[in-house]
Amino acid sequence: MPRTDDARAGAAAFEPFGDEANCLEWLWTNLYAPDGVSAVCRQCRTVRRFHRVTGRRAYACDSCGRHVYPCAGTFMEHSRLSIATWFTGALLVREGDAPPTAEALARRLGVNYKSALRIKNTILAATSGGGPDAALLERLWKDAGAARGAGERSDEERAVTRSSRARDTIRAAACRAFAAHGLPATRVSDVAREAGVSSTMVRYYYRSKDDILLAALQWAMEQTYARIEELREETTDCAQRLRGILELALPAEGRLHDEVLLWLEIWVRIRFHPELLTACVTMSDYWLSFIREAIEDGERAGVFHPVAPPDELAHWFVAVADGLSFRSAVGYTDMHVGRAGELLLGFAARQLGVPVEELAG
Ligand SMILES: [Zn+2]
Repeated sequence: MPRTDDARAGAAAFEPFGDEANCLEWLWTNLYAPDGVSAVCRQCRTVRRFHRVTGRRAYACDSCGRHVYPCAGTFMEHSRLSIATWFTGALLVREGDAPPTAEALARRLGVNYKSALRIKNTILAATSGGGPDAALLERLWKDAGAARGAGERSDEERAVTRSSRARDTIRAAACRAFAAHGLPATRVSDVAREAGVSSTMVRYYYRSKDDILLAALQWAMEQTYARIEELREETTDCAQRLRGILELALPAEGRLHDEVLLWLEIWVRIRFHPELLTACVTMSDYWLSFIREAIEDGERAGVFHPVAPPDELAHWFVAVADGLSFRSAVGYTDMHVGRAGELLLGFAARQLGVPVEELAG
């Protein structure tokens, strides 16, 4: 069907996100790879570098080739329409005081009535559903608004964005490189190659290898903090939320071991480089506060009956989680990830006076 003027207007409304490839990349970075290349590979069970698969809406693990389809599990799954059409539709549904009629939407998107009706109903249902699709659409609307405002940003603001993106790329690449080869065997040039930038650029942002290691660990931890923030927003059930947080404290299938391996590396360094200590204590304190708050919330709600003050218990939980994580990550045969999870949740349940089944789900 030829596109009408209205259809072009629809496409123009979408301009901030660019073409179909840009839309797929937006989805990929928002759902899987914050830096555009690093994502957890379920086959390799750790963070790997991924590349775009030509001719498919997919990215593949550089290491094992496993594909990830960013549309899978979203409101666009099983649809033959382009992602750009869906995104434009989502922006148009939100644009005015009331959603457009299916006829108007069909004209502006250049699709038939049936497709337009499906887009409209799907977007409205996803928004009111309040699940992951609603969160994804919120981010889409926010980013579209920000992209439209980007023309008004100063050169300085644009430079800050570029620099923070470059640093993120280096931090994520360093995380992969150190976790794969260990600190002693990884040179700055290896990190640079992994990040696809020059060694000079890495040295421009980070003075030493210790600085890079710390930045890599902080990157990994930020990914976990973001997941915890999501849990806090999505989950009102106190036991379920604490369970989710404790599970994130352990290496698990489909989640990075890298964080644990980087902690091991940095703890060895701290003995002789105390300047790393402050940043590490800050990260540990963050963990403590998440766990302490979850215990306090459960106690207030009458779900938990802690055997000791929440602050004391939080320290215990972190210590036990650390011990189990390290044994599991280095490969102790009696400490596979499932066993570590059972032990931690069982321990927590007994300290909180809840039946093990309630915390272990
Ligand atoms: Zn893989």
